[in-house]
Amino acid sequence: MAEQRTFDDRDGWIWFDGKLVPWREANVHVLTHALHYASSVFEGQRAYNGEIFKLTEHSQRLHKSAQILGFEIPWSVAEIDAACREVLKANKLVDAYMRPVAWRGSEQMGVSAQGTKPHLAIAAWEWGKYFDPKLAAKGIRLDIARYRRPAPYTAPVHSKAAGLYMIATLSRQQAEGRGYDDALMFDWRGQVAEATGANAFFVRDGQLHTPTPDCFLDGITRRTVMDLARNRGIEVVERAIWPEELETFEQMFLTGSAAEVTFVGSAGPWSFEVGELSRTLAKDYDDTVNGRLPNR
Ligand code: PMP
Repeated sequence: MAEQRTFDDRDGWIWFDGKLVPWREANVHVLTHALHYASSVFEGQRAYNGEIFKLTEHSQRLHKSAQILGFEIPWSVAEIDAACREVLKANKLVDAYMRPVAWRGSEQMGVSAQGTKPHLAIAAWEWGKYFDPKLAAKGIRLDIARYRRPAPYTAPVHSKAAGLYMIATLSRQQAEGRGYDDALMFDWRGQVAEATGANAFFVRDGQLHTPTPDCFLDGITRRTVMDLARNRGIEVVERAIWPEELETFEQMFLTGSAAEVTFVGSAGPWSFEVGELSRTLAKDYDDTVNGRLPNR
């Protein structure tokens, strides 16, 4: 494949407020409410062999994310599903990452947003693994993030809202600057939360442990992997996890639509092995998204 150009300078079609527009024309004005006040929500989903995995769950979450931010997307979940499929087809993509994004427009400036119109765009492009496969095979290295996931009473934590990614981007930037691949974030209480764009799982004595998503996204991949584990008779324990416990876990991995199942070799001072259980679930996930295992 030829060297990719920047994200605003490519061939193809982007669905923009109800119609497909040439890629380079899918623009917003600088005085867009979303750009100034983070009044924007988005999704990230992958298509495998032409099928968008858990598409309706993603479209539903997009709707809910916007509602949490106080605006209604003027297209139904079914219409968003159809638009996503249209984008894939128009760009002749079969394996792709897709980015639906909804935001408040430029009708009004200032913190108040009642006068703004909601907009929706959907883009898709070929995107390989989220983490370098060579690093991921041995397990990626996580830094410990300086920022913590905020308490539910301080931010709309169950919305996939752009504003919540400010601390994620800063944490990932700091991690990469220090030679790590990503960062593990704790929450406001000091409990283990998630990575900057993926949920976290731990393995100990054949059991799977994962933090309760009470202040971060309950990922669609997370729930898929929990089901896959239960289908294999693996016990899944969802609970508060404190950093003190991290040294007792044997394996760790991340889950996300972009990250899929990514093995973790270390998080801060704690090391993990890439073990059998993690490998099994990674394979089950791969089989599921590629249609070799039933998608419940
Ligand atoms: N947490 C964060 C912060 C994320 O950005 C993502 C990716 N959407 C996830 C968790 C995983 O969510 P999902 O499995 O639904 O992609």
